[in-house]
Amino acid sequence: MPITLDWLGCATFRLTVGNLVVFLDAYIDRVPSAAQTGITTDTVKRADWIVVGHSHFDHLYGAERIAKATGATIIGSYETVRIMEAQGVPVAQLMPVAGGEKIRLSKDVTVDVFPSQHSCVWTSQPMPASEAVCLGELGVTYQEQQEHIKALWARLSALGGEVISHLTISAQGARGDGGALLYFFETPEGSLLYQDTSGHWSGILQNLRPDVAILAAAGRGNINGEPVQGSLAQFVARQAELLRPGKVILSHHDNWLPGFSRAIDITPIRTELARWTPRTELIEMGYMTGAPIFTKRE
Ligand SMILES: [Zn+2]
Repeated sequence: MPITLDWLGCATFRLTVGNLVVFLDAYIDRVPSAAQTGITTDTVKRADWIVVGHSHFDHLYGAERIAKATGATIIGSYETVRIMEAQGVPVAQLMPVAGGEKIRLSKDVTVDVFPSQHSCVWTSQPMPASEAVCLGELGVTYQEQQEHIKALWARLSALGGEVISHLTISAQGARGDGGALLYFFETPEGSLLYQDTSGHWSGILQNLRPDVAILAAAGRGNINGEPVQGSLAQFVARQAELLRPGKVILSHHDNWLPGFSRAIDITPIRTELARWTPRTELIEMGYMTGAPIFTKRE
C-alpha cells in the first residue's frame, strides 16, 4: 500500500494511505511574496479527513473550503469546530476533540489525539533564529501574555498592504489558538506523529514512539507551558530525544509570511539532532514531492 506525504508549505501536509487522503492542517493559500508551493485550495478535489493542530489562520484557513468541496470531515479543537461551523461547514462534517480520542479513519488507519501546547508567541523573541539561545521569561501570567500578543498583532498589521489584505481575508475570528493538539497516526506500514506548533507536554511525548515524527520548527518552543531555555534547534532535538523516531520531518520552518516569519536555518537543527539522537534521520522535504515516508520495518 503506497503511503506518501506531500508538504504544502507552513505546517500543512497531505497524507495519502492507499485511497485514503488526509490533510494535516489546511493553510495552502499564501501571500504572493511567499514561495509558491504549486497547489491552491481551489484545486483540491479529494480529501476524506482534515486534522487541524490548532485554530490560528496559518493552520485552519482553507479547511472550510476543502471540506465543502470534498465532503471531508474536519477533526479539531472545539474552537476549530466552532469557527468551521460559523464558516458554513455542515455539522455532520465536524468532529470536535480535546485529546484522548482514538478515531478510525479507514479500515486500517486510526489516529489518536493528544493535548499539546502552542509555541510561546508572546515572548520578546517570537521568531528567533534556530541557533539563538533564548533565556528567561518564566512564570509570565496569562494576562501578561495576552498583552504581549496584542502588541505582536499591532506589529504584524504594520507590515503593509499585502500582509494586511491577507490577514483580513484569512481572519476567521479565532479566540486564541483554541488549544493545540497532537495527532498520532497508525497505518499498516508504520506510525506518524503530527505536530504543527513548537510546544508539548513532556509527559505525553515521552510515552509516544512514532516511526516518523513531523515536528514544528518555528518560534520559541513551549515545554509544559514555559518557554524553552535554549534554542529552537535544541528544542526540536529534545523532542526527538523524547520520541526516538526513526525519521524527523520538519514543519512550519519555511518563510510562509515574509516580513513576519523567517526561513529557518536547518543546519543548527541537524547539528543538535546528531548530538541528542544520532540514530534519527532528518528528512528535508520540498513542497509537493509525494515522498514515501515509511521504509520497510525490520
Ligand atoms: Zn499558531
